[in-house]
Amino acid sequence: MKRELSVPGIAYGGDYNPEQWPEEVWAEDMRLMREAGVTMVSVGIFSWALLEPKEGAYDFSLLDRVLELLHTHGIAADLATPTAAPPAWFFRAHPEALPVDKDGRGLSYGSRQTFCPSSPAYREAALRMAGEIARRYAGHPAVAMWHVHNEYGCHNAECYCDESAAAFRRWLRRRYADDLTALNDAWGTRFWSQWYYDWDEIIPPRPTGAVPNPTHQLDWRRFCSDELLSLYEAEREVLLEAAPDIPATTNFMAMFNFDALDYWRWAPKLDIVSNDHYLQSADPESQIDLALSGDLVRSLAGGPWLLMEHSTGAVNWQPVNRAKGPGELRRNALAHVARGADGIAYFQWRAAKAGAEQWHSAMLPHAGTDSQIWRDVVRLGADLRALAEVRGSVGTAEVAIVWDWNARWAMELPSQPSGELRFHDLVRSWYEPLWRAGVAVDFVRPDADLSAYRLVLAPSLYLVDDEGAANLTGFAERGGTLAVGFHSGAVDENCHVRLGGYPGAFREALGVRTDELFPLLPGESVGLSDGGAGTLWSERVRLAGAESVTAYTSGPLRGVPAVTRNAHGTGVTWYLATLPDPDTLAALMDRIRAEAGVEPVRGTPEGVEAVLRRGPEADYLFLINHTDRPAHVAVASDATELLTGRPVPGAVSVAAGETAVVREPRRVAGWEDIS
Ligand SMILES: [Zn+2]
Repeated sequence: MKRELSVPGIAYGGDYNPEQWPEEVWAEDMRLMREAGVTMVSVGIFSWALLEPKEGAYDFSLLDRVLELLHTHGIAADLATPTAAPPAWFFRAHPEALPVDKDGRGLSYGSRQTFCPSSPAYREAALRMAGEIARRYAGHPAVAMWHVHNEYGCHNAECYCDESAAAFRRWLRRRYADDLTALNDAWGTRFWSQWYYDWDEIIPPRPTGAVPNPTHQLDWRRFCSDELLSLYEAEREVLLEAAPDIPATTNFMAMFNFDALDYWRWAPKLDIVSNDHYLQSADPESQIDLALSGDLVRSLAGGPWLLMEHSTGAVNWQPVNRAKGPGELRRNALAHVARGADGIAYFQWRAAKAGAEQWHSAMLPHAGTDSQIWRDVVRLGADLRALAEVRGSVGTAEVAIVWDWNARWAMELPSQPSGELRFHDLVRSWYEPLWRAGVAVDFVRPDADLSAYRLVLAPSLYLVDDEGAANLTGFAERGGTLAVGFHSGAVDENCHVRLGGYPGAFREALGVRTDELFPLLPGESVGLSDGGAGTLWSERVRLAGAESVTAYTSGPLRGVPAVTRNAHGTGVTWYLATLPDPDTLAALMDRIRAEAGVEPVRGTPEGVEAVLRRGPEADYLFLINHTDRPAHVAVASDATELLTGRPVPGAVSVAAGETAVVREPRRVAGWEDIS
């Protein structure tokens, strides 16, 4: 059963850390939260040291006062278990709970998330603390949601200590049903004399003289994700026992630089999926990564979700941390809402003057209320109030992109044909032209139900099991269009190469057979017969039923097909055996989706993002103008722009850098016939 958030409309707020400030500041916090329209804040995320000054001795007086104050001011609490940062006394008592990094270096306390995920002492202390919080605040009227831990795996996804090694062995015994021969076969340990005769011989993939076994490394990544998931589930269990009706979440980090957790396995265990997303300063079009992340999180959630953390301005953890330009805060927040967020929250409410995140922006900046950020924060509060009716509506898509963490981990292991392939970058390359064209996209697992889609894209699916491969090719067989990127289908779930020619699992459905791979060097490109250039990859494709759409015009593969199209069953399959340059890829993607009958959400000028959420009575068209020119977009004759409340019959103007949200009443089926 999924529990729902009781906070009405689009929730608005951020991490509230009043413990960082003298208590006389709290009254001002409440006044300013009301002014900004804040409806929910996350509290207690890093409060462990203050809540339990010594082992077993609790002091909840601070949290009592904070929750009371929030309740008095009508602000809901997303109450955290503070387990991401155990206090110093804990590590002095349990030094064995400190993690060991890949190089065997024992880490010290003094920051956050520096504990071994497999430590029994940590687990016991964390569950005891979660239990205290749960029992004390289960009935508190301010508590609307449990915020379990914080950003699982952000800093300690992998621990290489002996305790973790033992936990890894237990996990492996479950995975291989206590059959050591099955593990040896799966890992291919006849190679390099790696055969194991005793479970105790197995250790984490610590640095060794040469490359560790690939399946060993892949199973390690799977274990590390599951180990943290078991901690989440244990805390959630304790919370649900005390408060069966309060929904629980933990904040994911589905964004460009984090790949530690298999969120497909996590998402079903959350009542409400929430995510943290930050822009990358070095990326001139970071709004595309934001959109990709939003679509991925909506897909994980299977509907609306919450943005738990985002920044109002600069962050503090990149080499250079860029502030946001005019209107960017608003465009970012509403782009998240467009892609399914039913709540917008920031790290954090009040900018810290001390501590490791003192240079991270906040809703209330160091400069105070006479600041652009504060004016933008207040404006956004009003915007979100105006969008209350959008809550619960969902976007629909005819295009699905296959996203799989196992495939990502496996492809990025060492000793690949190319060390230049990055899963996120490859997916983004294919996503980008769809984003520019305003085409709605979902993300799916390889074994997902694909019946709602016309077009399925697998830009990078190096690893796929038989079931996933059959699901994807079956989709094409039954009339769908499937496009597959190079080096996909190469290995099975155990990282064993699929024999008989590449791209293994998809060879037959694609009507091609490759006998040798020719990855390109960094910066190298090959000419393509459509005038474009191929980058990153090439391979000697032979046609086995497919037609050549584009061929290489230079290099050792001159004349060999680079892009192919095949009739498969009643559907169509495409194979992209290189990464075409962006313009060429965009033209190809246009052709593929046009043939598949996929239309953009709405025709808009270039640089104007169009996203649709569909409610029971109306469609909500989000128009986000990323350009420095005003844009005019055709809308329904009875449409209303929600942020201004004005009717926009037939067309809406969106000023440079601004955003419009247009409500278009839903047409009754057969309406045209009746009129
Ligand atoms: Zn450990």
